[in-house]
Amino acid sequence: MSCHTFPVRGSRPTRRPETESEKRSTLTSAIVTVDQMEGEFPIFRIEFTNGKGETFRGTWDSRRPLLSANSKLRKGFKRFRAIGLAMAPWKFAGKGNLCGAASAGCIDACNGLWAGMNVTPSTRFALIGRARLYMEFRALFLRKLREELANFERLCIRTGRVPAVRLNVSTDIPWERVAPGLFAEFRRIRFYDYSAYSADNRAALPANYQLCHSWKESTTFAYVESTIRAGRNIVVPFDSAYAPARRLFGALPAEVIFVCRETGRSIRVPVRNGDKHDFRMRETDGAGVCIGLHGKSGRSKVSAAVESGFMRHHAEGATLRRKTIHVGTVAVEC
Ligand code: SF4
Repeated sequence: MSCHTFPVRGSRPTRRPETESEKRSTLTSAIVTVDQMEGEFPIFRIEFTNGKGETFRGTWDSRRPLLSANSKLRKGFKRFRAIGLAMAPWKFAGKGNLCGAASAGCIDACNGLWAGMNVTPSTRFALIGRARLYMEFRALFLRKLREELANFERLCIRTGRVPAVRLNVSTDIPWERVAPGLFAEFRRIRFYDYSAYSADNRAALPANYQLCHSWKESTTFAYVESTIRAGRNIVVPFDSAYAPARRLFGALPAEVIFVCRETGRSIRVPVRNGDKHDFRMRETDGAGVCIGLHGKSGRSKVSAAVESGFMRHHAEGATLRRKTIHVGTVAVEC
């Protein structure tokens, strides 16, 4: 998961980060206060320390947009236009937990903090600011979200595109329970998300909301089985090489066999390339498949993610090619 956000006016890190060499994955929970109010809109003062012990201080003005489009959301099908809501994952905003089913492995490798622009302080201020607006000014947050969704829907209709929205670009909020009215209000919008909750936990979804479910090191065979049985897809990150700037990609497996550790039963599913586009819907991905992702966030994080079991090793994924090919089978015990 990654997002593009807008530079924060007036925010300056105390030191310029060398994000490539940021060794530890731990980011301290942010310290956030309301610096001032502009009418009903808070301007947050934010401080966080990265894994190298560097402290960054800045502000985020809640009049800034909640929704944005990153490069992954822009990729793909011409008939769709996609936008997403990116907020600080898990407990990084310093209040609440926006990823209730997160595991140590996924927190450590989370693209919401470690991929693309998400390593920059200005983006992190925006992620944290939005999360605090969600936690502390819920009514204002939802009103602003509705306004932005309405504008986006109008834009899509005017330009003849189907509006597609990811509300959990870097969080895992069960929106169908938090704000069920949104889905009925914006019937034309196709909502979709990744979730680390099981398909059983998030079984009842509005007709215009689709989920795929993420593999993590603690995933059980029952989780995989319930996902496939529900006609949804399971997302598995592999350590396959990824160099999109050079247009070079490692191979993904052709299929994955999930094997139950206790009973020996297995489920065999084909793999689709989840990095080709970001529209995680039945009509774009199919149903009952594995969405394979390449390893991102840098080699050291990829190795750590494989070690934790969050990411799976694919023996044929190391060689870079002009396009992603699917080759081989990966067996996953769970
Ligand atoms: S649940 Fe998803 S968004 Fe949350 S920490 Fe894990 S990988 Fe990141």
